[in-house]
Amino acid sequence: MTHSPLLSLDEARTRIKHAVQPIRGSERVVLNAALGRTLAEKILSPINVPGDTNSAMDGYAVAGSDLPVSGEITLTVVGTSSAGHPFKREITSGQAVRIMTGAVLPPGADTVVMQEHVERAGDTARIGAGHRPGQHVRNAGEDLSIGQPVLDPGRELIPADLGLLASLGFGEVSVKRRLRVAFFSTGDELRSIGEPLAEGEIYDSNRYTLRAMLVRLGVDLVDMGIVPDQQEAIEQAFLDAAAIADTVITSGGASVGEADYISQTLGKLGQVEFWKIAIKPGKPLAFGTVGDTLFFGLPGNPVSAMVTFYQIVQPALQRQMGREDTALLRLHATCTTDLKKRPGRTEFQRGILRQNEDGTLSVASCGAQGSHILSSMSRANCFIVLSAESAGIRAGERVEVQPFAGLI
Ligand code: AMP
Ligand code: MG
Repeated sequence: MTHSPLLSLDEARTRIKHAVQPIRGSERVVLNAALGRTLAEKILSPINVPGDTNSAMDGYAVAGSDLPVSGEITLTVVGTSSAGHPFKREITSGQAVRIMTGAVLPPGADTVVMQEHVERAGDTARIGAGHRPGQHVRNAGEDLSIGQPVLDPGRELIPADLGLLASLGFGEVSVKRRLRVAFFSTGDELRSIGEPLAEGEIYDSNRYTLRAMLVRLGVDLVDMGIVPDQQEAIEQAFLDAAAIADTVITSGGASVGEADYISQTLGKLGQVEFWKIAIKPGKPLAFGTVGDTLFFGLPGNPVSAMVTFYQIVQPALQRQMGREDTALLRLHATCTTDLKKRPGRTEFQRGILRQNEDGTLSVASCGAQGSHILSSMSRANCFIVLSAESAGIRAGERVEVQPFAGLI
């Protein structure tokens, strides 16, 4: 086991990127089961969208060459084209077809005049000057043309993608198989909910947070419970987990204390890298492999476990799931509170971001920032990201924030 000096967050991410390979294996799923899955194929459009040139307005389909430059023209209305019921005959000069939004333009017509600009009397339509040939028409293939790339592999499928795939007639799609992630907590002080707490004992909360964060990622879960701080028990748990999972995540025992066996065990059974990363909270992180299985040993402190998960483990899992690289959204906001910080490590303080009436963003600290104070994470809706060099923030200064919530 090597004890590297403090590693920068970027360096840790780069190392993980090199060490983590996308899993193999894909499956075909029906469109309704594809939300949140990782696309495993390149989608090319098999058709033109829209398939036919059609009207963008309710009005009259005409030949652009009939439009008067000045004065007006009277056309004969020879029929109607509505959505799903096209007018199939060709129109000739002097003719118009009543047309509805989304209806196919009849042959011979290339222009639509809005109904508000037409004086209709019986089967005649009077149209004045000022119209442009080709107006109010959606051309076939304007959105997508046959053979055009639509979606790339590695994409997390969002609602719009499912609609897009449906519009192209795809009923199924090939997605990466689900990543299988096993997780357990370590610590002799941990008790499960429902058990009485003796002095010095606490409820295991990390397993709930971890599970929830993993559910959001859409992985298959194996909850292995609480493992005591005993070498043999941890070793057995590691072997059991490695046999069934692509990735194992533990919490607790990541600091180099007497009762901390995670990195020792990892070193004994596989390859270990133990890092002290220059972030706060969440300095210690064990990372390694047992056979083909990846291991992440998160620190036990609840906030540290969450911060290291979001900042380091989640991007690694996304890479393993075959996802394309997606950087988290970062915004700038005016900080309304002083923030204490010492230079040295990148800090992820918990904040409450809000949009002011004038549209600007401001953020306030959500109070005590100890790595054991989970209520700060619960109250927060963003991380306030303070650079390693920063020596603190005074109210009124601009800071970088990472919002927790996305639209999908
Ligand atoms: P450790 O990383 O084992 O040194 O733990 C650091 C701190 O986090 C200690 O105060 C632990 O009691 C606490 N802790 C460890 N695991 C958990 C857990 N699963 N849930 C809540 N707190 C934990
Ligand atoms: Mg412990």
